[in-house]
Amino acid sequence: MAQHHFKTEVSRLLDLIIHSLYSHKEIFLRELVSNSSDAIDKLRYLSVSDEAYKGVTLDPRIELRIDADLKVLTIADNGIGMGEKELEENLGTIARSGTRKFLENLPSDAKKDSNLIGQFGVGFYSAFMVGSEISVTSRRAGETTAHRWTSDGKGDYTVEPVDYFEVFPGEAKLQGTLVKIVLNEEGEEYTSRWKVEEILKKYSNHVAWPIHLVSMENEYDDKGKEKGKKAKDEQVNAASALWRRSKSELKDEDYIEFYKGFSSGFGGFDEEPLHWIHTKAEGTLEYSSLFFIPKKAPFDLYRADYKPGVKLFVRRVFITDDEKELLPVWLRFIRGVIDSEDLPLNVSREILQQNRVMAQIRAASVKKILGELGDLAKGNTEKYNQFIGEFNRPLKEGLYSDFANRESLMGLVRWKSTAVEGWTSFADYKARKKDEQKAIYYLSGGDEDRLRKSPLLEVYKKEGIEVLICPDEIDEIVLGSLGKVEELDLKAINRSDADADLAKNDKPEDGNLAKKACERAKKILGDAVKDVRPSKRLADSPACVVLDGDDPSVKLREMFREMGNEMPEIKPILELNGSHALVKRLVEADDAAAEDIAQVLLAQSMLVEGITLKDPAAFATRLNRLLSL
Ligand code: ADP
Repeated sequence: MAQHHFKTEVSRLLDLIIHSLYSHKEIFLRELVSNSSDAIDKLRYLSVSDEAYKGVTLDPRIELRIDADLKVLTIADNGIGMGEKELEENLGTIARSGTRKFLENLPSDAKKDSNLIGQFGVGFYSAFMVGSEISVTSRRAGETTAHRWTSDGKGDYTVEPVDYFEVFPGEAKLQGTLVKIVLNEEGEEYTSRWKVEEILKKYSNHVAWPIHLVSMENEYDDKGKEKGKKAKDEQVNAASALWRRSKSELKDEDYIEFYKGFSSGFGGFDEEPLHWIHTKAEGTLEYSSLFFIPKKAPFDLYRADYKPGVKLFVRRVFITDDEKELLPVWLRFIRGVIDSEDLPLNVSREILQQNRVMAQIRAASVKKILGELGDLAKGNTEKYNQFIGEFNRPLKEGLYSDFANRESLMGLVRWKSTAVEGWTSFADYKARKKDEQKAIYYLSGGDEDRLRKSPLLEVYKKEGIEVLICPDEIDEIVLGSLGKVEELDLKAINRSDADADLAKNDKPEDGNLAKKACERAKKILGDAVKDVRPSKRLADSPACVVLDGDDPSVKLREMFREMGNEMPEIKPILELNGSHALVKRLVEADDAAAEDIAQVLLAQSMLVEGITLKDPAAFATRLNRLLSL
């Protein structure tokens, strides 16, 4: 028997793992299962690519066995196996130079950060967190002798040949590896079948090979009396890795079933998805992705602490379901999987966020999703509208925040409009607009019902100019950020400069009257308004308030205030309709009545725009006085 010392780096790593990872110790199972899965992958590859391996038995299976009495957990696989040299090289040094570099570069403070190390992944050695002694017995495919590596994880290990080796009970001739862990106090909980099964489901459900869990369970007779123990052997993982299968072999039901099983981890909606997008990318970047669009928005869509919906796998091994950077934030309603062939298994969050491969997968995924949504919008309006009903707002967030994809998003976002029922797009608006019209007009800030009744719309309606109705609280910010759309300016009709396309058809006497009324109102209202101007946009109403240039709207100011920001008081511009009787009266009335009229005109214009009055009692008094005249 050869006795060896661990290379110093291994001792250091062992120490680090054992002292910093206890709270994450369950990951050892993920690491060992993933090694087994890799070993099977390797053998499978050789069996198809190398003549020398043509004859090997390939009946992939990973088996976990619990011996609660002896406090032993074993993990066996019939993968490629390891010979004597490999056992020494793989388990006696840190094969992965990436790990070593990473650890060397960690500042000593960070080395105590279990989170950091836990996310990084630590491979085989993590088993020493739960084991006082570990042996790895293995027979390399094509070899006849098996070898056993044994260590207590403290500094020494031995490697010796073994005469007799069964990978699985009764299968002595097989190649493969059996890792036997004598559980320490920390590891005792892994004698519970329930516990082990739970962890396997969490981390390894979609490992492509069947994982069996074998344990001795109590047997009961008819009367419920214990009559002995019996081996329970069940496959515990789905072993489907559906996303890696080719689209042509999958039916709709497969996707739907998968989604139902998969999405339960996201808050349990047991519903069919609205749509799915399955991609298998090959070439320079190899990955599979399967994205689902839910029918209903997840309950936490608008919460800062929302749960991300996309799980990351690396070569079918689950890595994380808590990484918000896999897709842009505005796509947080997407559920699904990204499975990369190129990322390292032990990728940490820090590394992930700066990783080029990940950035490329992310960019390609966004393009793909946008492309599919575009197709849906063209090909299946009904389904697309259903989508818009739930997810228009996140798309708008993208429009505001994702500059690289702004063009596609412009085409996908939908609006309500004065011209049509239901949803419409910028492009549809452009197709409908008058030839000479230079802008896309919209009205935002308030619920749809109120906006549709706004007096600001009167002349646009009369002149047949379409106005987009934008009730979403983020509309104003989003639209304000866009600049030109479809080569047209975007103009909010509640702003002073939005009347360029309106015909100048005021009767001259109205104009004169309006001017006089404005002068008088300005004197009366003083500081309460920024200006009083004759209006081109009113037909039936006497007055309206509009915003000057870039002044934020009342709604927007309210929003910012709610978020704790100081907002300056913004004064509206009052516009008066020269052909309205009340405006005429404003010119003709005595001073006392004129004051009431001017104040009431301002107050009611603000009310119509959903602005709360500072002094509603004064408004009521003036109104009553006017009415009783
Ligand atoms: P990693 O898996 O990240 O490379 P590990 O420390 O977990 O790091 O394992 C080191 C190496 O040992 C693996 O790269 C692999 O070559 C070998 N190995 C581990 N487990 C097995 C196994 N079950 N079958 C065959 N080889 C294995």
